[in-house]
Amino acid sequence: MSRLPDPIREGLARGWRVAGGPHGAVPDRLACDVAIVGSGAGAGISAEILTRAGLKVLLVEEGPLKTSSDFRQLESEAYPSLYQESAARKTSDKAITILQGRCVGGSTTVNWTSSFRTPAATLDHWQRHFGLQRFGNDELAPFFEQAERRLSIGPWLLPPNENNALLRRGAARLGIATAAIQRNVKGCWNLGSCGLGCPTNAKQSMLVTTIPWALDHGAHLLVETRAERLELANGRVTALVCVPASGEGPATRITARHYVLAAGAINSPAVLLRSQAPDPHGRLGQRTFLHPVVLSAAHFDGKVEGWRGAPQTLYSDHFLETQPIDGPIGYKLEAPPVHPVIFATTVTGYGREHADLMRQFPNTHVLIALLRDGFHEQSPGGSVRLRGDGSPQLDYPLTDFVMEGARRALLSMMEIQFAAGARRVLPVHELARPYLDWNEARRAVAALPMKPLLAKIVSAHVMGGCGLAGDPALGVVRPDGVHWQLQNLSVHDGSLFPTSVGANPQLSIYGIVNRLAQDLARRMGGRDAILA
Ligand SMILES: Cc1cc2nc3c(=O)[nH]c(=O)nc-3n(C[C@H](O)[C@H](O)[C@H](O)COP(=O)(O)OP(=O)(O)OC[C@H]3O[C@@H](n4cnc5c(N)ncnc54)[C@H](O)[C@@H]3O)c2cc1C
Repeated sequence: MSRLPDPIREGLARGWRVAGGPHGAVPDRLACDVAIVGSGAGAGISAEILTRAGLKVLLVEEGPLKTSSDFRQLESEAYPSLYQESAARKTSDKAITILQGRCVGGSTTVNWTSSFRTPAATLDHWQRHFGLQRFGNDELAPFFEQAERRLSIGPWLLPPNENNALLRRGAARLGIATAAIQRNVKGCWNLGSCGLGCPTNAKQSMLVTTIPWALDHGAHLLVETRAERLELANGRVTALVCVPASGEGPATRITARHYVLAAGAINSPAVLLRSQAPDPHGRLGQRTFLHPVVLSAAHFDGKVEGWRGAPQTLYSDHFLETQPIDGPIGYKLEAPPVHPVIFATTVTGYGREHADLMRQFPNTHVLIALLRDGFHEQSPGGSVRLRGDGSPQLDYPLTDFVMEGARRALLSMMEIQFAAGARRVLPVHELARPYLDWNEARRAVAALPMKPLLAKIVSAHVMGGCGLAGDPALGVVRPDGVHWQLQNLSVHDGSLFPTSVGANPQLSIYGIVNRLAQDLARRMGGRDAILA
């Protein structure tokens, strides 16, 4: 067992108020000032701000409370215990695999630490199309600054790992600009296992920052406990009904002055759908965005070992900036962590061909392109609905408009990989084969049918479904995050965004929720509170 300090076990030993699962039975009735559903990016920030304001906060998390002592850098343990649907969540047609966290800290416990403020072009679009006048760069800047200080977001000073360095080298040979990514880490060991839970507590996720702070100052956490539905009457929430995530055991009824939904995009809309929340304009669960991601793998003569070292440290926005935000879909390029199980289950092919690919694994380089969805009428995103058992399902039509962007993205990534000296390049598509030079690859990919289930699409960025808007006909929540029809309910997570962000979303959630939570604390009569 690790001999590193474990802030969670130490906190539990200090007497944190945690119940559920192995931490003991949850009482059948509980009361607080603010009940927060979830414990990820939006929930963590809200919990700290509202607790700082002197309010009595209770968090409800359906996943387990795992700690750095549990994080052994093993994919076989991490995916089943820390991710929604064991990291195999898929859209209803199975064409997109979705990664989301399901544990205390939510997706921040397993994310890859890339930290970007919301791009100015995105904020400008929200102001013009969704009536979000107060969402300008200057108005949000102090809230981003506080989040950056609180979560140690700053430049990464070590050299990039080879997977990232190849992105820079290939792009530079083509005259494509790359830049460094800021990370939310403190004393990072450069292990590269961010996606499996940080074993050294260096990643400044909600698991080791805001949630411990809130628990140290009196907040109450229920784990392995699912928020099932809200009880509603006269335009208000009257209670939150929760059940053990195991399905075994009695329900708990939580009453609060205010309720905050922060269960993440897909799951927050699902709680509202299960509660039959008013939705007069048919917006609930609509416009769910994914930054649909396509991938290109390449083999190099030298070792790449993409599992080693900080995962995403360089990026290129060249292909976001070469056309208008509402024109043909643009994409951000990054070099992700490359671990064997996730790689093996993502690349296409089977049998001997697949075995050959895996033999090349240490020499394999991977690029991803994140498509900026939601800015064009032919990119309306997906919609959440409920299965018969009440669990959520996402329909996400991959339109020709999106898939044409996917084709351009595959071409851009392959060209960069060849420019970096790749021996052969494999765009991740069922009908593609490894190509030996750029001309062959370009011709082959131009002719590939870009269809769902053929081109492999993944996502770790789920956004929207409870969109912010200045007009009730355009969104689910008001610009202050309060539900348009339910006056004591706010949404504080990635489901707020009216389009995709166009950059990795964690800092957008931290900054924007920071402001919404401060306003909420003030309206509830709390002390003034800031993050840092
Ligand atoms: C593998 C991976 C890598 C990523 N890398 C990056 C990155 O490098 N940079 C970046 O900016 N973003 C990254 N992201 C995305 C980022 O982490 C998320 O956008 C962000 O955490 C979403 O915050 P949220 O508050 O919306 O939801 P989450 O952080 O997902 O938290 C939601 C929580 O709610 C819980 N929950 C759901 N339903 C219920 C219910 N009914 N009752 C109780 N609890 C419930 C879930 O278990 C979960 O813990 C990554 C995500 C993943 C999965």
